[in-house]
Amino acid sequence: QVLQIHMFCCNHNYSFPYFPESVFCFTGNNIEDDDFSVSTLLEKANANLGENLDDPLVMFGDIAVPTGLQNADPCTARGCLWNKDQDGNVYIPYSISNQFSQRERSIIVRGLESFHGSTCLRFRLRQRERDFVDIQSRSGCWSFVGRIGGGQVVSLSRNGCVFHQIVQHELLHALGFNHEQTRSDRDSHVRILLENVIRGQEHNFRKIDTNNLGTPYDYNSVMHYGRFAFSRNREPTIVPIPDPNVEIGRATEMSQNDILRVNRLYQCSEYFFQNLAFTFPGRREQNTRGRF
Ligand SMILES: [Zn+2]
Repeated sequence: QVLQIHMFCCNHNYSFPYFPESVFCFTGNNIEDDDFSVSTLLEKANANLGENLDDPLVMFGDIAVPTGLQNADPCTARGCLWNKDQDGNVYIPYSISNQFSQRERSIIVRGLESFHGSTCLRFRLRQRERDFVDIQSRSGCWSFVGRIGGGQVVSLSRNGCVFHQIVQHELLHALGFNHEQTRSDRDSHVRILLENVIRGQEHNFRKIDTNNLGTPYDYNSVMHYGRFAFSRNREPTIVPIPDPNVEIGRATEMSQNDILRVNRLYQCSEYFFQNLAFTFPGRREQNTRGRF
């Protein structure tokens, strides 16, 4: 864990002789500290998006929009969930393009499997299923929101997208989730400084009528953009309230809330409580009928 954090956020020029760098990492809210935040990685990797005519229209940083649906999102309204099996698991067929190296492939597989221990989702290699996640290295990192039918591309460019947190982030889109800072209740938790946003990128901060599934707003969600996302002047574009110094958008993996949301959206309660019973023996009876 520490090693990973070290790699992702201490790749800058500071030297701080008296403290381990990994401690230093968690302080500071400078733009340089945000180099490995999800949104900084996405912005870098997606800088030239739109030049390839084969790619779909990508909005909100990394969300691909199916043709004809530009104005009609909330994905849950169009039944975009993946199907639940009779055994209570949600099996999501996937394929991984052979463009990826063995190392990249194992990072992607680790991202897929990271859902298995804490949710009822099970990614498994596609056999003949009609709907599946088709992981390719196209230009940039992007995904559709929710299941759109057929083989749906999740693009993880070899050039800047094959990181654990990006894999999880794009998969969460494919499962039906939007960005945390577009949540319907975001104005109680963050202030958006549009005056600092790159002209023409303001739509990235549009609010969406999201289903928040009774979970709290989470600065530490892997779906939350960083403080300087789409900044045109190195000044913050997203500032937490009431405490402006709280860290935001620096997750290196799914938060507990991200996991809870998956479990609620896909009604993984049985699985979850079995797990809970395993963790806390004796709790099972009183909880098996519970729901999130
Ligand atoms: Zn995204």
